[in-house]
Amino acid sequence: MVSLNCPSPCSSHSVLQQRTLPLPTPLPLPISPLLGFPPPPNPRRSAMAKTKQGKKDVDSYTIRGTNKVVRVGDCVLMRPSDSDNQPYVARVEKMEADGRGSVRVRVRWYYRPEESKGGRRQFHGAKELFLSDHFDLQSAHTIEGKCVVHSFKNYTKLDNVGPQDFFCRFEYKAATGSFTPDRVAVYCKCEMPYNPDDLMVQCDACKDWFHPSCMGMTIEQAKKLDHFVCSDCVKENGPKRLSNGYATSPNSEPKAESKRQRR
Ligand SMILES: [Zn+2]
Ligand SMILES: [Zn+2]
Repeated sequence: MVSLNCPSPCSSHSVLQQRTLPLPTPLPLPISPLLGFPPPPNPRRSAMAKTKQGKKDVDSYTIRGTNKVVRVGDCVLMRPSDSDNQPYVARVEKMEADGRGSVRVRVRWYYRPEESKGGRRQFHGAKELFLSDHFDLQSAHTIEGKCVVHSFKNYTKLDNVGPQDFFCRFEYKAATGSFTPDRVAVYCKCEMPYNPDDLMVQCDACKDWFHPSCMGMTIEQAKKLDHFVCSDCVKENGPKRLSNGYATSPNSEPKAESKRQRR
């Protein structure tokens, strides 16, 4: 059966690990007003005035109007000051209550790709976030919900991606726009990092992963494959290999489904 959709960086494709893309790389496109500019610091408002008196650490906070309890280490959605924007995502590092019982949270922001200096790239997933080095102190009242930021590997294993599911594979330095790790494995003829939103097929011969479109197939055709051998391996190994290839198995049943078909 052809393998679909999970070129996990931890799998045994040691050959593939050598092909990497340095990050960040220059934008291939001219910068448009929608791309490539970091957002102004607001509405991630800067730290509020400090009150030394009567602060005490608290270990949980119940989101207003809900029974959802937030604890240190949880990931939360925070209301943007402009309600047209998507909520911000942050990880709660510390919570403290002042003498009058109002709770403030020290958060570490996650950035969305479009908020990074390099902007959103083709390989960034719809639910991708970068763990930034940008911390803030916020009123707990701005927390509007909880969410889960998965590791990349765990995200690719989810059966269903809900609205509260995100993933993170890079840390991001807000001041310099640099990423850790600064290189990422690439796949396919197009030499792009894996976007978990895109279905890929694995070549039986070289074990690299390919976008159906880069191999001249539709996604529907790719899902029906019994075996797949990429065009380079077909050339190298001669026509014998081709007899296993996708062109000769038009009647096979669909063998696998993409986990995510949200688009
Ligand atoms: Zn490709
Ligand atoms: Zn191949």
